[in-house]
Formats: sequence, C-alpha cells, structure tokens
Amino acid sequence: MISQTEIEMREILVNEEKCRVCKGKCCQRHACDCSPEDFDNDIRLMRRALETGKYAIDFTRSTADAFVYSSKGALTLDIEHILKTENEALYIRGRNRNRPIVDILHTEKKEGPCVMWSLEKGCELSFEQRPKYGRTVIPFLFIPENCINTYTKQDLIQEWKPYTKELFKLAKEFFPKDWELYEEFNIVL
Ligand code: SF4
Ligand code: SF4
Repeated sequence: MISQTEIEMREILVNEEKCRVCKGKCCQRHACDCSPEDFDNDIRLMRRALETGKYAIDFTRSTADAFVYSSKGALTLDIEHILKTENEALYIRGRNRNRPIVDILHTEKKEGPCVMWSLEKGCELSFEQRPKYGRTVIPFLFIPENCINTYTKQDLIQEWKPYTKELFKLAKEFFPKDWELYEEFNIVL
C-alpha cells in the first residue's frame, strides 16, 4: 500500500511531462521492480498478481553460485545459499513481453518492454497501483536511461529476503519447464 510520505514525495519528484516526452524508455527496457508492500506483504496477493500473467518472479545475484545440480542432474536454485548471501534475493516485478512468469535467467541487457506498457498509453496502471520502483524513480530527461532510482537493489534485497522460501514455492509452481532457455540450460525448479 502506498504510504503518506510517498504521496508527499510524489508532489515533489514526479514529472509526468518528462516521462511523456521520453515515451517510457525505462518501461521499454525492463519491467519495474515491486516491493512486498505493493502486495500488502501478503503472499496470497503476490500469487494473485502472478496469476494475472502481468508479474514475474526474478532472481537478483552477483554470481551464479546459487545454481546447483539436483539429484536428477538438472540445474536448480539452492535456497539456503540465497538466504545466507547478502546480495541475493528472489523478488517480484512486472513481467517483460515474451518472457516467462519465472524469469531467473538473463542473457540480454534489454528484455522489455513491460507487458503493462504501450507506446499509445504508457503504463496501464494508475500511479498508486504501480510497482514501487515505478513510483519512486526520479525522471532525468536529458539522459533518460539514467533516471535516479531511489528504490535501490539493496532496499529490494532487504525487503524481499524474508519471503525467499514462499517465493521459491511459487517459483516451483509457476515454473515453465518448456521455456527454450530453461530447456537449453537444463534448469528445473
Ligand atoms: S523515469 Fe526516466 S526513463 Fe522512465 S519514462 Fe520517465 S524520463 Fe523516461
Ligand atoms: S509497471 Fe508500468 S511503470 Fe512499471 S515498467 Fe511496467 S509500464 Fe512501466
């Protein structure tokens, strides 16, 4: 749920005109990151969001060490490793077009656009409904790719870490075994 402070910050920081001129370069590059608070910290609301097909589970990491071989010989995620590693977390964000609901393997720099974005309308969500990143990014028109992200990766990791086990269960449930990259790299959750 959006906080009073955020509403006040919005008055100061949001510049919809700049975003209109830019035509949503950030949304075209990658869907924006959610916070657990976007789902009232409720795993049932997170599941419902995934069921719409408009949100995805992602995995932020700095090494590939959490990918380990299962007894069946496929690559899977080691949840204990994620739990004890400072800069790793499973989290939810908007879904990118032509990407799966469980989107944990990245080979491209630009994987967007976000499924909720269109050139004609921009973001289909109202400001209050947008993921936290989308509500808190500060537009910087002259170098739009470098707009200021006030919801940092460290904030995201800290907020999502307590949900690791529940998100892993959801990731297993929604895992698309037949997605080409997972088949190619033999990844099965
Ligand atoms: S936040 Fe920045 S990149 Fe995103 S639409 Fe606005 S100006 Fe463009
Ligand atoms: S949810 Fe909205 S603001 Fe966020 S990337 Fe998608 S279209 Fe952009």
